[in-house]
Amino acid sequence: MKHKKHSYGGEFHHKHSLGQNFIEDESLLNQLADLSLVTKEDCVLEIGPGFGALTKPLAQRAKQVVSLEIDPTLFPILNVALEHVDNVRVVQGDVMKTDLHTLAEESFGVECSLRVAANLPYYITTDVLTKLLVTLPEAKSIAVMIQKEVGDKLLSQPGDEGYGPLAILCQYFCEVRRALDVPAACFTPPPKVDSSFMVLERWTEKPFSADDEALLLRLIKGAFAMRRKTLINNLIACFPIDRAQAAAAMDAAGLDAQCRAEALSIGQFCSLCGQIGKTLS
Ligand code: SAM
Repeated sequence: MKHKKHSYGGEFHHKHSLGQNFIEDESLLNQLADLSLVTKEDCVLEIGPGFGALTKPLAQRAKQVVSLEIDPTLFPILNVALEHVDNVRVVQGDVMKTDLHTLAEESFGVECSLRVAANLPYYITTDVLTKLLVTLPEAKSIAVMIQKEVGDKLLSQPGDEGYGPLAILCQYFCEVRRALDVPAACFTPPPKVDSSFMVLERWTEKPFSADDEALLLRLIKGAFAMRRKTLINNLIACFPIDRAQAAAAMDAAGLDAQCRAEALSIGQFCSLCGQIGKTLS
């Protein structure tokens, strides 16, 4: 737990357990807000405002901002920091327990052009990204600071070490870019690892798409459930189908019977999803 005398008076105890690694460099914060693609047309959902350091440059660029923060001890500081910023609403809550679609709708109405921006708490990166991708389809972009190594994962391709459900979900729903690498020294307190600011822009037209996305999500999760097993064994474990049916679906999707999930491209996952859908119907 680090103690920090912040510019709003008093002392704040950074909570490592909440991923509280804050950014203070104003030029970096402005750069991140620029990279978040936010314009005056956009409403922004920010996760974890901390002291409000990124909230302010986002608010300058956006129509409106809603910032969701779990830590109640930050609220007196946020109230002072954002005192003269009139287009920000700060809400207390846990991003994993909040209905983000409802929060955005209540804050901005139904017609808003929504973007997400955050210096994410790293202990929930995968869960937050998955939740944003799956439950907030109206978000046009998701711009997030995450561990550099996780950024590598998001960009990984079939056969790469980090290739798995997170990379597939991100790339299925969005065009993924690493916008900036940010060294650990830019944070207070500095985390143990370097970071990357990643920008995920939702495809207006997906390069590959599945008719049944709920089934695709189930397939992606199930295919990697037992990493050491072949795809066919994971399919049998995940769906109510026997070996012959799984083999036929794989064959119809043009897949080798012995292949593993980590070798499949997103297009191949979509084809297999179509075949499994037929088998199940
Ligand atoms: N935005 C600030 C900045 O860039 O300096 C703070 C970023 S800090 C990496 C992550 C923030 O997320 C902290 O303020 C932390 O309290 C908050 N946080 C952690 N877990 C959260 C959760 N489950 N839901 C919402 N906010 C959370």
